[in-house]
Amino acid sequence: MKDTHLPTVQVLRDEIEHHLTYSMGKDARHASVYDWRMALSLAIRDRVVAPWFAATRKTWETGAKRVYYLSMEFLIGRMLEDAAINLGIRDTCREALEALGLDYEAVVENEPDAALGNGGLGRLAACYMESMASLGCPGYGYGIRYEHGLFKQKFEAGRQVELPEDWLRQRHPWEFERPESVYEIGFKGTVEMVDGRAVWTPGETVLAEACDMPIVGWEGKWANTLRLWSAKPTEQFDLARFNHGDYAAAAEPEALARTLSRVLYPDDTTYAGKELRLKQEFFLTSAALQDILRRHLAAELALEDLPDHVAIQMNDTHPAIAGPELVRLLMDVHGMEFEAAIDITVKCLGYTNHTLLPEALERWATYLMGTVLPRHMQIIEKIDSWHRAAHPGRPDYVGIVKHQEVRMGELAFITAHKVNGVSALHTELIRENLFPQLNRLHPGRIINQTNGITPRRWLRMANPALSHLITETIGAGWEADLDRLRALEPYIEDAGFLDQFMAAKRVNKEHLAHWIAQNQGITVSPDAMFDVQIKRLHEYKRQLLNILQTIGEWHEMRDNPQADYQPRVKIFGGKAAPGYVAAKQIIRLIKDVAEVINNDPAIGDRLKIVYPANYNVSMAERLIPAADLSEQISTAGKEASGTGNMKFALNGALTIGTLDGANVEIREQVGAENFFLFGLTAPEVTARREDPEHARHAILESQMLQDVLQMIAEGRFSPEEPGRYHDLVHTMWNSDYFLVASDFEAYRAAQKEVDAAFANRASWAKMAALNTARMGFFSSDRAIAGYMRDIWETRSAL
Ligand SMILES: *Cc1c(COP(=O)(O)O)cnc(C)c1O
Repeated sequence: MKDTHLPTVQVLRDEIEHHLTYSMGKDARHASVYDWRMALSLAIRDRVVAPWFAATRKTWETGAKRVYYLSMEFLIGRMLEDAAINLGIRDTCREALEALGLDYEAVVENEPDAALGNGGLGRLAACYMESMASLGCPGYGYGIRYEHGLFKQKFEAGRQVELPEDWLRQRHPWEFERPESVYEIGFKGTVEMVDGRAVWTPGETVLAEACDMPIVGWEGKWANTLRLWSAKPTEQFDLARFNHGDYAAAAEPEALARTLSRVLYPDDTTYAGKELRLKQEFFLTSAALQDILRRHLAAELALEDLPDHVAIQMNDTHPAIAGPELVRLLMDVHGMEFEAAIDITVKCLGYTNHTLLPEALERWATYLMGTVLPRHMQIIEKIDSWHRAAHPGRPDYVGIVKHQEVRMGELAFITAHKVNGVSALHTELIRENLFPQLNRLHPGRIINQTNGITPRRWLRMANPALSHLITETIGAGWEADLDRLRALEPYIEDAGFLDQFMAAKRVNKEHLAHWIAQNQGITVSPDAMFDVQIKRLHEYKRQLLNILQTIGEWHEMRDNPQADYQPRVKIFGGKAAPGYVAAKQIIRLIKDVAEVINNDPAIGDRLKIVYPANYNVSMAERLIPAADLSEQISTAGKEASGTGNMKFALNGALTIGTLDGANVEIREQVGAENFFLFGLTAPEVTARREDPEHARHAILESQMLQDVLQMIAEGRFSPEEPGRYHDLVHTMWNSDYFLVASDFEAYRAAQKEVDAAFANRASWAKMAALNTARMGFFSSDRAIAGYMRDIWETRSAL
């Protein structure tokens, strides 16, 4: 998009007023912030449509290969500012609103987050959609338009309470309904053989109806579509029953269908063996595949040529029913033979593995699969025996169907031509521990694509102060070529640059301190170190290790108040899955400890704990640019990659972390001397667990940890209920699966190093600036270029 296409402030202002009048039907004198936000969003959306049409047209005309990214989650966050930045009109928007007498920030913050995901996996999908658009990779995202996204978190007396999320209560200005794009999705029923072909007669059907969101890339050069499916009833409302006065029964078909797209499952780290979850997965996958085949046939292309035109990526195993479903469509609907169908399927599909946690690997009881998807169960058996026949050396315990369960990881592996891990370490562990036999049968199928984050949202948009400094220092354009940040390196010897770098951090910290005062009623000093751990609450992420060390620090301060401490603000954020009792206890402990420490007059400003409710994408955008220290302290071998770690380091926070996931590569890139490493390595973790008494042994070796656990056990942080944390303390002594005790002293020592480093602000500034300068590798543009080259075999259409 050339600059000549950019609107002036006056033009944009007219467009906003036009939408206020004719789309919102509001007089400026009575318009609310919401009305203005809608008017601005629609004005911006109008400007997305031209590049969007142009991209779609070009893809049709050139017959370019399309990529389809199937994901049960897209954690998009707010869209207004993201679109404005990519179109190059953020400042114009600000000025136009100011000219109308409005507060730009208030309008932007009026937008609710689109929270159609749980955490890292869903946010990755959103970053990848943005990078595909920025790189001009023709593609579609396919997901579910959940009526209720991830629950809203509140705290009541220190406890997490979940409230339903309601993003669609307001009009959603970024989508276009497509009532003409509907597909029938079947469940249950029977399969008969008719003339040698299988005929599946579903017992239940619903319709999947499309809703499209345009995703515009950097500088508006390309735009793709995120197509989300809503479930609708096949038979409308029963008028006969309604006329008989049976109103509830009349609405039944509609209610039944709608449950399918009603809620996002609020946990992606445990496998949910629920019929509704399987139905949701099939609903998304079948709608997507029917849409893909329809588009392919509409271009008058042969189904045999599908792999030349179509690449389908499965984001984890959630859409792994894609293999059997594509085989079914090709065989039962399009009359192909099995051998041809499976050959095409494997060539089209790619599978991204996101977890090694055994509790997260999806497995469905064969009876459930056979009941909900009877034809697919047959095809799964067929794929399994086809694979066994093709690999006579396949050991008996390697297979898709085992112990009356369908193992979705094996299914995805066998039906995909490439299987990728999301960090170098994780990919190694997939090869060695998760799929060693399949890896032997298919050498080269498992590859690595280390995760990435979009620098447009996570630096340019979230951190204007640092972005301006970077552009002033090395020129424009780094947003689309993040390796150019390396050009900042020579400036770390320049005291003037370092001052400006730390001044940018300071501005962000002041904003955050102001927000914390307003929203949490806690006064924190921007001079203190902002030490941040924000991510889903999970035992393997070890928020517990962080709070135990914090208690230890407090204990030391009280014993030795004269010593020299670097003031710290410990910031936590994150939601626990509603049924995850242990994680909820950890939240409560953090809240209880905060209550005691924040009100301890002996401590004053030296230690504060803040835990704002409802961590989400927009809170991440607020917290990350203000962070000095990034906590990435998972038990080694458990975090597949992490992406929060990348956002922090890019914004000039130093990491304290274990050798886990992408931490390993971040440390390699930024330099070991600019990273606070501690803790057991993945092989050491495995070895340590051989000792059934590892927890007890580690605790007995640390007087500090004994003291800390003793204080918790005595009810020091829960005087009104001293026994509140008995179970937690008991687990620490007796099992401690995630090795909090074994890493405690190493973590404490690393935190002392952090303190010493922060005491020298000049050298801290250098380390922080080097982190930013060396994080170019973690752009999601690099990751998507890797997928395009190694998995999708496609090229930019720009
Ligand atoms: C980036 C991000 C995550 C992932 O964070 P990790 O630290 O990698 O687990 C989760 N939630 C939100 C809102 C994010 O922006």
